Amino acid sequence: MLPERPNTEVASIPKASPAIRTITLILAVLSIIVFAALARFLYQAETDSIKRDFSAEVAQQALSFEREVLLNLEILFALNASVALVDDLTPERFDQLTGDILSRSPAIQAFAWAEIVTPDTLTAVESRMNEWFPGFSVTERDTGGNVVPVAVRPQYAPVLMIEPIAANQAALGFDLASEPRRLSALLQAMESGKMVATAGITLVQEPDNQRGFLVFAPQFLSPESGTAATGTESRVVFVNGVFRVGELINQSVGNTFNQQVQLQVIDRTRGAEDVLYSSIAAESERWLIAQTVVHDLPDVAGRQWYFEVTPAASLYTERRGYVPWLVLGSGSTVVVLLVVYVLVTQRQNQALNAAKSELERISLTDSMTGLANRRHFDQHLEQQWALAVRQRSALSLVMVDIDNFKPYNDEYGHPEGDAALKQVARALQRMATRPLDLVARYGGEEFALVLPDTYDSTQVAENCRQAVEALGLRHEYSGASDVVTISVGVCSLVPAEGQSLSELSEQADRAMYQAKQEGRNRVVVCSSERDLHRA
Ligand code: GH3
Ligand code: MG
Ligand code: MG
Repeated sequence: MLPERPNTEVASIPKASPAIRTITLILAVLSIIVFAALARFLYQAETDSIKRDFSAEVAQQALSFEREVLLNLEILFALNASVALVDDLTPERFDQLTGDILSRSPAIQAFAWAEIVTPDTLTAVESRMNEWFPGFSVTERDTGGNVVPVAVRPQYAPVLMIEPIAANQAALGFDLASEPRRLSALLQAMESGKMVATAGITLVQEPDNQRGFLVFAPQFLSPESGTAATGTESRVVFVNGVFRVGELINQSVGNTFNQQVQLQVIDRTRGAEDVLYSSIAAESERWLIAQTVVHDLPDVAGRQWYFEVTPAASLYTERRGYVPWLVLGSGSTVVVLLVVYVLVTQRQNQALNAAKSELERISLTDSMTGLANRRHFDQHLEQQWALAVRQRSALSLVMVDIDNFKPYNDEYGHPEGDAALKQVARALQRMATRPLDLVARYGGEEFALVLPDTYDSTQVAENCRQAVEALGLRHEYSGASDVVTISVGVCSLVPAEGQSLSELSEQADRAMYQAKQEGRNRVVVCSSERDLHRA
C-alpha cells in the first residue's frame, strides 16, 4: 500500500498577538503626535504670519500718527513764522491769524502767545496788556490750584494772548515759567531756538481729562523794533500750541483696529515713562502682551515718543484659518480609523486562525481513536523519509493489523468492535515515546507507527504486540489466541540514493502479511532490516 502524496501544505498565518495590538497603539499614538506636531507647526507659522501682518498694519498706523503729529507741529511752525512778520501783535491780529487754523485743526486746543518778562518789566507788561484785557495780571497756581499773583523770580513767561479766548480765559496771564514742565521746555526752546514740546500734561477742559502737550516755538525780537533779532539783548517771545493727543490719534488712526487693540502713546524722553494716550481696553478681551508691537517716533519737538499696540486674543482668533485644525482633525480621524481597521482585522484573523487550527487538528486526527489519521500518517512519513535521506539516518515503519477482527465484530457486535479498536489504539499510542514518533490509524483495524532515526524497531514492535495481548480483550473466535492480538510487520532502512519510500511501505506490509501467514500474533522483521542488523 503506497501512501498518497499529501497535499496538505498549510500556510501558517502568524497568530495575532497582543504585541500587534500594542505596536498598533504605539504607532497610532506616534502618528497622532506627528499630526499634532505638524498642526502645531502650522499654527505657529500662522501665528507668525498674523504677527507679521499685524506689525505691518501697526507700522502703517504709527506712520499715519507720526505724520499727523508732524503736520500739527508744522502748523505751529508756520503760525510762528506768520506771527514773526507782524510788527506789532495785537490780540485782534492774533485772533485773525489763528482763528481759521483752530477751526480746521481739532487736535489743537489753543494757541497762545507769551513773552519772557523780568521782574522790573513785569508792571509795564501788565499795564500794556490791561489796555486790551482790563484787569490783566500775571498769575500762577498755588498748590490748591487757585489762581494767585506770581511770586518773585528772575523771569516770567506770562500768556499774553490766547485763542480761542472764550474757552481759555483762565489761562490769560498765567506764568508758564511757574510750572516745572512748561519751564523746562521753555528754557530748552530758548537755548536751542527750536520748537520744544513739554512732557505730557492733563488738559483740564477736555472730556476724560484727555492728555496733551504744549509746544513752544521761540522768536527772538530786537527790543526796540519788535522785529527778529539775535543776541542776548533780544526779547524772547513764544507762540505755543496746546495739542490733544487723543485727537491726533482720532485724526490718524481712527478706529482702524475695531477696538481689538490696546493702543498707547508713551513719552519716554530721558527714561521717564509718561503715557500720553491709552485706548480704553475692554475687560472682556484677553490681551496678548507678548505680541505687543512697538514703534518709536522720530523726535517730536525734542521728545521721544513710542507708539505701542497690544492685540486682543480675539483679533488673532478672527484672523486664524482652519488648516491646523483640519490637519489635526483629519489626521487623527485617519489614524483612529486605521487603528479600528487593524484591530478589527486582527480580531478577525484571530478567529480565522483559531478556526484554521481547529480544522487542521480535525483534518489530521482520526475521530474515533484520537490517533493521527491516514492523511497525517502519509504527510509525516513523507517528511521523515526526506529527513532520513538528507541525514542518511534510519527510518522505521511498523504495520499493525488486528487478528481475525471480522469474527470479533460478527460475534460481539460492532460497538464492542469499536471499543476494542480504541483500547488497541491507546495501547499502541503508549509505545511511541520520542517526539517525532507517530502512531496512526492506517485504516479499518490497521495501525502504523513511524519511528524516525531508528535502526532496530523489533523491540518496539514486540512491545506493541505484548501490550495488545496484555489488554486481555476476550476473543473466543480468533483462532490465534483467546484474546485480541495483532500481527506486526516491521521494516527499518537507511534510504539509499534514488530509493523510493514505497519500498519501505511495501516491505513493512509484506512483513505484516508474512506474520499473518505464520500464524498471527507475532512480529516479522523485513529482510532489509535484517540486513541492516547484520551490517
Ligand atoms: P486477518 O487476521 O487476516 O486480518 O483477519 P480479519 O478478519 O481481521 O481481516 P478482514 O480484512 O477480513 O476484516 C477486517 C475487519 O475489521 C472487517 C471489519 O468488520 C472490521 N473493521 C474495520 N474497521 C472497523 C471499525 O471501524 N469498527 C469495527 N467495529 N470494525 C471494523
Ligand atoms: Mg486488515
Ligand atoms: Mg485483521
